Amino acid sequence: MNTERELLKGKPKDESFRDRMATIDERGKRNWIYAQKPKGKFYNIRTYVSWGFFIIFFGLPFIYINGRPLFLFNIPEAKFIIFGKVFWPQDFFIFGLTMITFIVFIILFTAAFGRLFCGWICPQTIFMEMLFRKVEYLIEGDTAKQKILNKGGWTGIKVRKKITKHTVFFLLAFIIANFFLAYVIGVDELKKIISEPVTEHIGGLLSILVFSGIFYGVYAWFREQVCTVVCPYGRLQSVLLDRNSMIVAYDYKRGEPRSKFKKVRTAEFNAGDCIDCFQCVKVCPTGIDIRNGTQMECVGCTACIDACDKMMDATKKPRGLIRYASENGIESGQKLRFTGRMKFYSALLVILAGLLSFLLATRKNVDGTIVRAAGMLYQERGNDSISNLYVIKVINKTIKDVPLTLKLENAPGRIIEAEGRSIHVKKEDQGKGSFFIVLPRNFINKRKMNLKIGLYEGNQQITVLETNFMGPFNKF
Ligand code: SF4
Ligand code: SF4
Repeated sequence: MNTERELLKGKPKDESFRDRMATIDERGKRNWIYAQKPKGKFYNIRTYVSWGFFIIFFGLPFIYINGRPLFLFNIPEAKFIIFGKVFWPQDFFIFGLTMITFIVFIILFTAAFGRLFCGWICPQTIFMEMLFRKVEYLIEGDTAKQKILNKGGWTGIKVRKKITKHTVFFLLAFIIANFFLAYVIGVDELKKIISEPVTEHIGGLLSILVFSGIFYGVYAWFREQVCTVVCPYGRLQSVLLDRNSMIVAYDYKRGEPRSKFKKVRTAEFNAGDCIDCFQCVKVCPTGIDIRNGTQMECVGCTACIDACDKMMDATKKPRGLIRYASENGIESGQKLRFTGRMKFYSALLVILAGLLSFLLATRKNVDGTIVRAAGMLYQERGNDSISNLYVIKVINKTIKDVPLTLKLENAPGRIIEAEGRSIHVKKEDQGKGSFFIVLPRNFINKRKMNLKIGLYEGNQQITVLETNFMGPFNKF
């Protein structure tokens, strides 16, 4: 089907480029992308943003609040710390809701701003374009030199450059892997792996090596294919974007019909502003031609904006032939709009954020469950009392040990700790214990009664847990 652009220009447009990826040739082989080094305003700003990213990425694992890391994503132990707050498996509801809220935020953000995240903040883009690619430029030179080097024979210079590049790449991957692991196990554990005998941390060491290998493989070889083939966010673009989303777009109304630059333009020379110089294609890290329209492979890196602006300066045309705009904006000059779809997502986001805030505000620092011991009914204690045996599990999310005492809140009677001692739960840990509840026989008026048990630290009530009490069957 022809697009508005084709109809506008009165000729059908060849859309066959959409049948295959720029990084794969007709025979299915890898088409290596030699992206020319971008230069310009956006590239400079992105460089500053990447410095900020590096400071945060390499600095965050060292930030501790009250003895806890600010962020920890300990997947093996199912323990997550976000902004210094610990989330346990028991908090999975909050965690799940956080994930849903985050996904709605991503959908809203993408509907409004397209792949702004990919181009500016995504770690994959920043590490690739602002670290590894720059190292490559430094060692092997810009695109033309890289092509010559790769096509040429294995001379001494080529061997030296390749060894240097891949050694630096692996070292960088090794450093990133260490910090990546610091987010999972914490800096203290990482220091132990590094400083203590290898035999004591075989698993940790293997993890570092495996992650180093993965990062090295990604940045030395796989590269842009992470964004175009693997990344689920990238694959969702086709459903998240609409004609009002802000994307990096080519102004075909202004640029077409494209034609090679002519200094002297006659009245019959009716060409658009695009001089068909291919600079926008040459700098593209995913190898696409933005002039073909919105494409899934575009990561919104803005390199083509800088390249085209430079050409516009050279030909004395206004900048912005390629710019941030929506498809509707290009077509009809419409400004970016807050559409009905965006309003719906925003309302949903506000509701979810409100619910999440409520759950976080009412979240208990010490929580637990009390259940009757499996396989036991009740015990007769003399003529006037009945007891039930219980198992209590308590989770302490605070950073101090908590000695707990239990108190019956809605019944006369007493609690007898089975082990003869109070329950002591270590900081950021879980505790377990068992105890009897003894009730006067004349208080029991149902076969199954609801009981409330207060958990106290000293005289301070921490929380109240509910359970039930089983009485004799024949009484009712
Ligand atoms: S088309 Fe432009 S913005 Fe998109 S990936 Fe290529 S250079 Fe970056
Ligand atoms: S850089 Fe600008 S002028 Fe050159 S081909 Fe791309 S869109 Fe046309």
